[in-house]
Amino acid sequence: MSTSIELKDIHWLIDMVQNIDIGLVVIDLNMNVKVWNGFMENHSGLLAAHIMDRKLTELFDDIPEVWLQQKMNSVYLLKNKAFTTWEQRPFLFKFKSYRPITSSAEFMYQNVTFLPLTDIVGNVTQICMIIYDVTDVAINKKAFQQANTQLKHLSHTDTLTQLNNQGYWRECCFREYKRHTRTQQPSALIMLDIDFFKKVNDTYGHPFGDEVIREVANCLRKNMRETDIAGRYGGEEFTLILVDTDLKSARLVAERIRLAIEKFDFYYQGELVKVTVSLGISHITGNIPDYETWLKTADLGLYIAKNSGRNQIGVSDH
Ligand code: GH3
Ligand code: MG
Ligand code: MG
Repeated sequence: MSTSIELKDIHWLIDMVQNIDIGLVVIDLNMNVKVWNGFMENHSGLLAAHIMDRKLTELFDDIPEVWLQQKMNSVYLLKNKAFTTWEQRPFLFKFKSYRPITSSAEFMYQNVTFLPLTDIVGNVTQICMIIYDVTDVAINKKAFQQANTQLKHLSHTDTLTQLNNQGYWRECCFREYKRHTRTQQPSALIMLDIDFFKKVNDTYGHPFGDEVIREVANCLRKNMRETDIAGRYGGEEFTLILVDTDLKSARLVAERIRLAIEKFDFYYQGELVKVTVSLGISHITGNIPDYETWLKTADLGLYIAKNSGRNQIGVSDH
């Protein structure tokens, strides 16, 4: 192979490096820029000639110097490649997304490979960074994750009240029962049912009934702790798991909810309408072998409350 052909090859190589749609940057061990290809020029607006031999972290304040130094050290010491993905660090160079219309990204997401470059005796003297534009991949993955989160929320949530629906609430109840068997921490359940709700619907219509259901859900939300788990169990029935709560405290919570609903003034076309609820409580004791029984016991408490005249609390301990 003659020298002229080798030179010609190098010329092609430089052309390719300059025009490839991937960022290529070479820095020395002091982080001074040695190579800056066309991709980098186009996206940064900085010409190679202007930044040659200048320190990278002084040109880009977004690049954390300590982090870059650690990355370089590992490449240098191990003489091996290193990587960073957009999920670990969205970008190394903050470039504007050049598809602002078609993409929701404000900046270019990047994957970066760090490559050790050795001299003829095998010492690492420079480090090459290969920058891949992965904006499309990142945006698609984020949209997918968002859709999944939304779907999960929808599949867990009752649309009328935004409380947990029965299916998901039962899962929570099962988990809470299991937690109790492991920790022996107290735990209580409240089951709530609106009194004479059929009459409310019959007198004022279904839409007004829905409004009452929504407001009862709000009363539950306002009177529970963040760790408690509320659900719409059925039409006008609600359930509440009171985590780490003994029977005495559960009674207080139930009474607070009962009173809040009793006090609430509903209006139908200017007419004041009063609504009450009955509540059943069950706390876990040694007699309760599984979560289904726990639930049935709360339902028994509710039955007691209804039979004793409604607008009150009933407790059953299996
Ligand atoms: P009790 O005091 O014994 O609980 O009497 P009740 O009338 O509340 O009980 P019942 O179970 O007979 O009636 C419940 C009613 O709730 C019947 C049903 O039409 C109504 N309902 C169920 N789901 C909904 C809903 O989503 N919206 C409305 N507006 N009504 C509902
Ligand atoms: Mg009912
Ligand atoms: Mg009812």
